[in-house]
Amino acid sequence: MTYKIDGKEVSSYIKECLKKEVQKLDIKPCLAVVLVGSNPASISYVSSKKKTCEELGFSHRDIDLDETVSQDDLISVIEDLNRDDNVDGILVQLPLPRHIDSDMIIKKILPEKDVDGFTPINMGRLVLGQECFIPCTPKGILALLDYYKIDTDGKKVVVVGRSNIVGKPIANLLMQKDRNATVTVCNTHTKDLKKECLEADILIAACGQREAIKGDMVKDGAVVIDVGINRVDDPSRERGWRLVGDCDYNALKDKVTAITPVPGGVGPMTIAMLMENTLIAFKRRRGL
Ligand code: NDP
Repeated sequence: MTYKIDGKEVSSYIKECLKKEVQKLDIKPCLAVVLVGSNPASISYVSSKKKTCEELGFSHRDIDLDETVSQDDLISVIEDLNRDDNVDGILVQLPLPRHIDSDMIIKKILPEKDVDGFTPINMGRLVLGQECFIPCTPKGILALLDYYKIDTDGKKVVVVGRSNIVGKPIANLLMQKDRNATVTVCNTHTKDLKKECLEADILIAACGQREAIKGDMVKDGAVVIDVGINRVDDPSRERGWRLVGDCDYNALKDKVTAITPVPGGVGPMTIAMLMENTLIAFKRRRGL
């Protein structure tokens, strides 16, 4: 019997725990949210992050900058937030406009306030297995595995995708000594993707290609974590589209042990983990 890995349920549980913890604090943890320009997807992500802050009793500092802001001015904004003792976490919504070097901007965030876990310092610590801020989506995947007691020790994990925000960190986290998985990471140059995927006890799909992982690419009884979020046309819906993952859910759902749906799998976990990281930053900065 296949079971659904329900990210909505797990994220609600985690958010409820965070809310209770924040209620007990005299000062509210504060997340600074930096938005540059007016990309509709970015605006939507930023507004749901702020809404979640409000629901859980966090405060947020909104910094909305014009599309034309210079790199130097954006760096000054980050440096001000770094110095501001009332700010616990700093989030710069990506992507940034083309004239801005995103790597340079991310590097300027104080590692202690880097709640996205994207700075080279936090990434380096993650690879070394040291205390760090774990990027929110990989952290959400670990939380799902833990919640459903899916053991990774000695398991063969195949990660499809090697991005800095999903593929690389989740692969590194699962190969650490506390998780003990044997990890293969695939990319567009992988010679035989199907052969690699068929080896997986746990398959993590993060390639950004709609339903790229077909029914015959996953072995019976595997666990499938589908990170992908792809918008496809759907005239039957009023809004004209729906979301699908990187895996063919219908083809897989009856042959695997467990699978995350899209939407409602990994997606809802990401914001919950951002809030958790912000609370961790608040506590670490105060030695709590
Ligand atoms: P990127 O586009 O940055 O990276 C995709 C990776 O997948 C690349 O490493 C690429 O390889 C690899 N890839 C693409 N096609 C194939 C293929 N056919 N075979 C093997 N490897 C392939 O994507 P992200 O990591 O940012 O995101 C991945 C997916 O996850 C997207 O759908 C995104 O929307 C979603 N996402 C969901 C989040 C959530 O909260 N649930 C958060 C972040 C992302 P190469 O390096 O060779 O190009």
